[in-house]
Amino acid sequence: MKYCSLCGSENIVQKIPPGDHLNRDVCENCGEIHYQNPKIVAGCIPEWDDQVLLCRRAIEPRHGLWTLPAGFMENHETTEQAAMRETWEEAQARIQNPQLYAVFSIPHISQVYMLFRGQLADLDFAPGIESLDVQLFKEADIPWQELAFPVVIRTLQHYFEDRRQGHFPLLVSDILKPGTA
Ligand SMILES: [Zn+2]
Repeated sequence: MKYCSLCGSENIVQKIPPGDHLNRDVCENCGEIHYQNPKIVAGCIPEWDDQVLLCRRAIEPRHGLWTLPAGFMENHETTEQAAMRETWEEAQARIQNPQLYAVFSIPHISQVYMLFRGQLADLDFAPGIESLDVQLFKEADIPWQELAFPVVIRTLQHYFEDRRQGHFPLLVSDILKPGTA
């Protein structure tokens, strides 16, 4: 952090505030403590019969690879609203009766994913501005080698396993940095 977002001062130091236990960016001019906290990514598994809708990314990172529609929550919206909005923005698709399906903590990048599943309202979907393509895939056709993120792989693996079992309990899990236990 170069400038205080409150007073504009460059006099920012890293220190542990009284009563705290972590280093923070503290403004020595106005005293503001700039906390940094994880970001929430909300998204969907759009379903149609035995197929799921994936988006081919038109943006970096992982340009050209396939992902579930998901993105950072905006202020003042709910997780469900964020998931629906991202699904609309990336796939021009509407979901009926979304159910929370998976919560993943990804501590090394300070993100939390909250993924809902739900039936597509219709087949009237199309690539949004951040997508090159949007397609329905049966399990056998999922492009496993071309999925954009580990969280997408893990989610789809669990999802199709749960499909076989016929129920979808809430999945709460962590995705750790490759190479760590
Ligand atoms: Zn300041």
